[in-house]
Formats: sequence, C-alpha cells, structure tokens
Amino acid sequence: MKIIFLGPPGVGKGTIAKRILNKLDAIQISTGDLLRDAIKNQTHLGVEAKGYMDAGDLVPDELVINLIKEKVKKQDNFILDGVPRTIPQAEALDKVVKIDRVVSFEAPKEVIIQRLSGRRTCPKCGFIYHIKNIPPQVEGICDKCKVKLIQRDDDKPEAIKNRLKVYEEKTAPLIDYYEKKGKLVTVDAGERDIDFIVSDTLNALNRDSIEEE
Ligand code: AMP
Repeated sequence: MKIIFLGPPGVGKGTIAKRILNKLDAIQISTGDLLRDAIKNQTHLGVEAKGYMDAGDLVPDELVINLIKEKVKKQDNFILDGVPRTIPQAEALDKVVKIDRVVSFEAPKEVIIQRLSGRRTCPKCGFIYHIKNIPPQVEGICDKCKVKLIQRDDDKPEAIKNRLKVYEEKTAPLIDYYEKKGKLVTVDAGERDIDFIVSDTLNALNRDSIEEE
C-alpha cells in the first residue's frame, strides 16, 4: 500500500508511522529525516537545506522531489511522512506513483505546540521522546542507546511559530487536493492515548483485521 501521512508538524506522523510499519510491511520515507541525515553528512543537499530547515521554512520543491522520486518508484509499500508538503510536490508525486490512501491527522494548535516544544530525539537511533508524554527512564538519556537526547533546532519557539504558519499556507491545501481525489481519511490525533490513535489509523487504512503489536 502506498500511503501519505499528512498533518501539521508535531501531530505525531513519525511516531504513528513507526508503530504500524511492521504490520503493513511498509517502509517509512521521511523527508525530514533524510534531510537531517544530509546535513549531518554535510552533503551538497544538506548544505543547501540547512538554512531553510533551521528557520522552519520549507526546502525548495525541486530538492525534495529529487530526493524521493527514485525511492518511491522502487517500493510497493511505504508511508510518506512529511511529504508532499506543497501542491507542486503532490503533483510531481502523482506523475511517478499511484497513491492509495492519504491519512490526515488533526489536533488542536495548543496540543501541537506542546508536543513540539517537549519533543526530544535520540541522535543515534532516532527514537522520539516527549518530556511529559513519552519520557525516557532517565531524564535526557535514550533508554536504548544511553546517549544524550537532543532538541531539534526547529523545535525551538520561533521556528515552531513559523513552521505552523508555513503549514497553514502551503501544506493544509493538500487536504482538499486529496479529498477531491477520494483518497483522504481523517484521524483525530489530539490529546488522547496514542494506542487509540494508532488503532484508528489502522482502521482508517482498512486494515482493522491487523492487531497492533
Ligand atoms: P519534519 O521532520 O518533517 O518536521 O521536517 C523538518 C524540516 O525539513 C521542515 O521544517 C522543512 O524545512 C524540511 N522538510 C521536510 N520535508 C519537506 C518537504 N516535503 N518539503 C519541504 N521541506 C521539507
């Protein structure tokens, strides 16, 4: 199944994707993770993308399209996490692959801000914690890798504000775009237990026969 996870930054797309990948025998393609890897490895792409990302702006469409085009062609089952983020990206994607389902995750703005500002990531394994909702056993340390958790630069207040504005302007119109194509399903990702959100997501994908691990 070829799936897109749509929704504002911090709504939980990455966390939910990780919880259901095995069940769907799918891989997660996160442009945010791919771009952060490019920055870490100081590739040409990383150097170009860094300024935009630190400010909470979108990286130019062309870079993102080139980054995922070949990947999606090769895979039968995937969840796109954080892409497309603009109408031109969605149109470019439509040219190379047929998307089956788009899940739109919704949550109130205050919940999003609280999630983003409390988010901490393990720089080694990529696991996403939250200081209140998903705390590590020892404060500030990854349970698995035992390394110090980091806060992403774009999870700091000024960048959060800009990312939400950019989402409203550039990405939210995609909800309409996919609704018109009859591919959209909506999941309430507000303040409720993550297990319910995960199971609603599976139901929305018509995979209610699969039980979450
Ligand atoms: P994320 O981890 O999905 O929140 O993405 C972090 C940042 O990477 C975003 O704020 C953008 O600067 C950049 N980015 C990720 N995916 C895209 C995309 N599809 N289009 C443009 N920029 C992106």
